[in-house]
Amino acid sequence: MGKITRKIKIGKLDIGGGRPVLVQSMTKTDTRNVTSTVKQIKDLEKVGCEIVRVAIPDMAAAKVLSKIKDKINIPLVGDVHFDYRLALEAIAQGVDKLRLNPGNITKKEEIGKIIKAAKKRKIPIRIGINSGSLEKNILKKYGKVTPEAMVESALGFVRIFENLSFFDIVLSLKAADVPTTIKAYELISRKCDYPLHLGITEAGTPFSGTIKSAVGIGTLLFKGIGDTIRVSLTGNPREEVKVGFEILKSLGLRQYGPTIISCPTCGRCKIPLIKIAQEVEKGLAQIYNFKSPALIKSIQIAIMGCIVNGPGEAKEADIGIAGGQHFGILFKKGKVIKKIPQKDLSKELLKEIKKLINI
Ligand code: SF4
Repeated sequence: MGKITRKIKIGKLDIGGGRPVLVQSMTKTDTRNVTSTVKQIKDLEKVGCEIVRVAIPDMAAAKVLSKIKDKINIPLVGDVHFDYRLALEAIAQGVDKLRLNPGNITKKEEIGKIIKAAKKRKIPIRIGINSGSLEKNILKKYGKVTPEAMVESALGFVRIFENLSFFDIVLSLKAADVPTTIKAYELISRKCDYPLHLGITEAGTPFSGTIKSAVGIGTLLFKGIGDTIRVSLTGNPREEVKVGFEILKSLGLRQYGPTIISCPTCGRCKIPLIKIAQEVEKGLAQIYNFKSPALIKSIQIAIMGCIVNGPGEAKEADIGIAGGQHFGILFKKGKVIKKIPQKDLSKELLKEIKKLINI
């Protein structure tokens, strides 16, 4: 069991308080273009995204937020930098949460105005500390970005919020490197009980960014730290959501669509296993594409190279195949169900999976 943090409401959802870790993403469209932004959010909803954030670079973007919100089903977060008036407009437009970078909205009276408006509308604010925009005095004190510097910055802003009796706070302390991020979150988690939004900022392209995020976010989640996650990838935001759920799934924290357990193959392998695994993965993507994977029964699918160890090694799987000389076998929960000609293995397996999940 992880650390129980304070429960914060965002739209109809709760963050923290022992609730399941939520997966969020951010749009990459020009927010002022309502049509393309809504389209991207709908696309994210399809893969199970639970909270979505949009950038608010200017007043024109702030002014279309209610139009976007009207057309989507998940809580909308407004991301504001530099100009407190954008935050006020976002709140007036009905966003469900605000993300502020206090490194660039520093005047207390401006923060005060935002807090007053957020309190009135009962929406939470994420104080998003980024290693790239720490206050100058803190950087001077520590000499460079350190976990302690990030925590001091976060707690300084928390104090300002608390002094104004505002406690609906979510915190994030994102650094571009994994060890600094992990240490910063560990430190802050010991010092306060506000829910934590985890992420590795500027994680990178899908391959390296996925690994960095899995290591950073995964390490923290394993220690029981973190209430919501956002994987940042230089790519389609759908991938961010899928990777986010895979991280949670690998730690047993959430269920999300199918899990393929495929053997690495060895000298005993009797079938073109890599090709079969790719065909099954492609088929599953089509099956799970028209419904949110988070809503479909989660199953484990085994694809094993031989029958010597295959079904036994994959006993936990709901369904699977194991390769033989000219045929393969289909098994369920470790028990052999039928023999299938080798060429039909992936097709038959996909057919059986559809039956299993009622599609
Ligand atoms: S299942 Fe068979 S082919 Fe695959 S790694 Fe194990 S022994 Fe090798």
